[in-house]
Amino acid sequence: MTADVRPEPGSKLPAPHSMRKHVDCLIVGAGFSGLTMAERLTTEQGKTCLLVEKRDHLGGNAYDKYDAAGVLVHAYGPHYFRTNAPRIVDYLSQFTAWHPVDYKILSYSDGRYWNFPINLNTFEQFLGRPSTSEEMEQWMAEHRVPIDNPANSEEVVVSQVGWELYEKFFKGYTLKQWRRHPKELDASVCGRIPIRTNRDDRYLREDFQAIPKDGYTAMFERMVAACGDKLEILLNTEFRAILPQVRCKHLVYTGPIDEYYDYGHGRLPYRSLRFEPESFTSEQLADSSVLNCLRPSPPSSGSHLSAEKPAPAGFFQPAMQVNYPNDEEFTRIVEIKHATGQQCANTTIVREYPDDFGPGKEAYYPVPAPDSAALYQKYKSRTETDPFPPHLRDLWAPGAAADPTVSFIGRLATYRYYNMDQIVGMALKEAEKLAATPAA
Ligand code: FAD
Ligand code: UDP
Repeated sequence: MTADVRPEPGSKLPAPHSMRKHVDCLIVGAGFSGLTMAERLTTEQGKTCLLVEKRDHLGGNAYDKYDAAGVLVHAYGPHYFRTNAPRIVDYLSQFTAWHPVDYKILSYSDGRYWNFPINLNTFEQFLGRPSTSEEMEQWMAEHRVPIDNPANSEEVVVSQVGWELYEKFFKGYTLKQWRRHPKELDASVCGRIPIRTNRDDRYLREDFQAIPKDGYTAMFERMVAACGDKLEILLNTEFRAILPQVRCKHLVYTGPIDEYYDYGHGRLPYRSLRFEPESFTSEQLADSSVLNCLRPSPPSSGSHLSAEKPAPAGFFQPAMQVNYPNDEEFTRIVEIKHATGQQCANTTIVREYPDDFGPGKEAYYPVPAPDSAALYQKYKSRTETDPFPPHLRDLWAPGAAADPTVSFIGRLATYRYYNMDQIVGMALKEAEKLAATPAA
């Protein structure tokens, strides 16, 4: 039986101040973290769950949908699933088959395409002639800045490849994306990007790289279906709006942690994004006069040493993602059809513009930096000493444990730049912890 997903806020809830709806668990947020918890708590632990989601769809930032051109697009930026954890693959495989992808991207700078992340092919493009891994290692040894323990995102790059490649590929992109100097960001930010001296030019490091075969949303719908009538979902519903109507024994919170505490210690910094999609029909794709004024360089055939790269028939650009570190306001153009494997005559590209976070905008990225980590620690301590501030105390059902707990999980509630697999892992672990806690 499919769980109830309905768009009306609070529609099935008792009116405020009359009898409240009682559930074992109230879950805030229908992203990977909230949905994994919902699935585990209902199917494995037999708990009743009410899940509230302020957006009008499942999946949080991993939501995908068919756009007006019939192209399956990732609504909130490209989501490349990858993991080294077989347990996560096994768990999600209950709800999806996989479309294997070697995620490959390009960078566009100085009027040409570059293989990226930096690898032997990039180095050869840089030299303008064939080379070897040994020569590249030698070059890097001569150019790297000797820093044993890189403390920030500038150091982590220059300690591997030196200033010139840092400035070509990392500095401008990072300044645009974060509106902070790489020196002010944790080493983990630019350290996410591999640098290799062989020809492996996959963007990601992990062993398992694949995308849900029918898309993320289809996978989320199957997770919800597995929950049956133990799960009720209210879309378009703000957590706070339903407080007077619900009582629960346990709360799973996956929203922003500073918002949960009414910004009592100050606002945490986030980065937001603006997505500009543009679709092309097969006729437009076949007409180079349309495309050449939009694309940075015309398609042509050639080896990786060539400055130009052909876009395959039916596509706008030569790779699923092209990064623009320097000369454009956007950071990347994503054409996800390359990754999804969808057979479709039309295509859609999305230009991604970094944006300051503020009212009415989505908090896409926590900012990994010493100052934000220090502020987050204040909220983190609060989660341990004061997990339900006064405005939430009323949520607890009579008969709940003397010391009920709240699960703070997900990217926003733990303020960490986590990937999807890490989020699923966190939720599975939390669900196991709750299973071992009889009162929860
Ligand atoms: P979210 O997906 O943010 O879900 C939280 C949900 O809670 C949201 O739907 C939100 O609307 C809801 N919510 C918040 N507050 C409230 C409230 N008060 N009331 C009701 N609902 C509320 N990961 C990868 O592994 N690979 C990638 O390639 C990748 N690319 C990414 C690209 C971009 C642009 C972004 C932003 C993220 C990317 N990620 C990627 C990270 C991935 O999106 C996250 O790891 C994952 O989606 C986090 O899931 P979550 O449930 O913690 O958070
Ligand atoms: N980055 C960069 N140049 C690039 C790609 C990435 O400087 O061409 C840096 C930038 O700071 C970025 C970070 O590396 O925010 C992580 O990149 P990733 O592509 O993993 O970011 P995400 O997909 O999470 O936005």
